[in-house]
Amino acid sequence: MHEFRFEPVQLPAPAQALRGEVREFIAEEVAKGAFTPCSNSWSSFDPDFSRKCGERGYIGMRWPKQYGGHERSALERYVVNEEMLAGGAPVGAHWIADRQSGHQILRYGSERAKSTILPKIAAGTGFFAIGMSEPDSGSDLAAVRTRATQVEGGWNISGTKVWTSNAHQTNYLIALARTSAKEEDRHAGMTQFVVDLSRPGVSVRPIYNLYGGHDFNEVVLDGYFAADDMVLGGVGMGWKMVTGELAFERSGPDRFLSTFQLLLESIRVIGVQPDARSANEIGRFVAHIATLRRMSTSVAGMLERGAW
Ligand SMILES: Cc1cc2nc3c(=O)[nH]c(=O)nc-3n(C[C@H](O)[C@H](O)[C@H](O)COP(=O)(O)OP(=O)(O)OC[C@H]3O[C@@H](n4cnc5c(N)ncnc54)[C@H](O)[C@@H]3O)c2cc1C
Repeated sequence: MHEFRFEPVQLPAPAQALRGEVREFIAEEVAKGAFTPCSNSWSSFDPDFSRKCGERGYIGMRWPKQYGGHERSALERYVVNEEMLAGGAPVGAHWIADRQSGHQILRYGSERAKSTILPKIAAGTGFFAIGMSEPDSGSDLAAVRTRATQVEGGWNISGTKVWTSNAHQTNYLIALARTSAKEEDRHAGMTQFVVDLSRPGVSVRPIYNLYGGHDFNEVVLDGYFAADDMVLGGVGMGWKMVTGELAFERSGPDRFLSTFQLLLESIRVIGVQPDARSANEIGRFVAHIATLRRMSTSVAGMLERGAW
């Protein structure tokens, strides 16, 4: 049986100093009326705020300076993200690119992909969507039918992606496509591609939610040409790539801090003389957050030590 251990992490002095800086920045932006703190703020899309984060060095924090990054530690990055989420800041425009797409490009992209795309992400001007799900391929992602066929100098991609959050406002997406016919191993024969959403052969259509809001899209690729150097991680490596990418999506503080503003608001409404039941519930939520935070900072510590 595998044993999970979440060793406690002591934040180093530079990370503590950075926390004060980020808090000050968020407070100034709120005071200026640039945004109103909200829950689930990592889905609030605000390119101006992202650009300011880029100028302050809060995006691509761990990446090499050569590609616009800042060569900071995983724990410093953690502190910035934690403050942004807890403060309800609108980080949605750059969130996906910073959290996973940029990392995929840095680790598995060509030199052209790295040198042209990563600096834009780090500057808070290059945004990404996730092109995994399809109309008949949700939980069962290995059933993707989007097809990439080899042509001179690259690949011709056709198919439909769905639930593509924010693709109507982003510059790129990373698409998972089938590059060879299904084999016995249904996880073989898939490949990830960087798709530039401003180029021909791609159209983005809105899917409105029950409230009439527009976050989701359907993205139709119809003979989209992706050059060979926009393949990530090698042809046929798609399954390994998406599962690795999802690990970055799920290990950070995003999910449990999404509702932190709600907790603050509940405490404000309940006031300083809570009845026994309210005090109990607030205590329960705070205990959950403290435990999840310890696990999540511990994961950041493991990333820092290279234990992954
Ligand atoms: C807020 C949000 C944002 C999203 N953004 C993106 C995005 O940007 N890009 C992207 O690619 N995707 C995105 N998705 C899609 C998401 O990650 C899932 O892939 C998708 O929602 C699941 O597929 P489906 O809706 O087709 O459901 P299905 O796969 O059809 O599942 C329907 C139900 O059947 C159950 N089920 C499925 N298979 C089995 C099984 N074998 N045994 C038992 N039960 C089963 C599921 O648990 C579920 O309850 C987003 C989803 C949400 C909710």
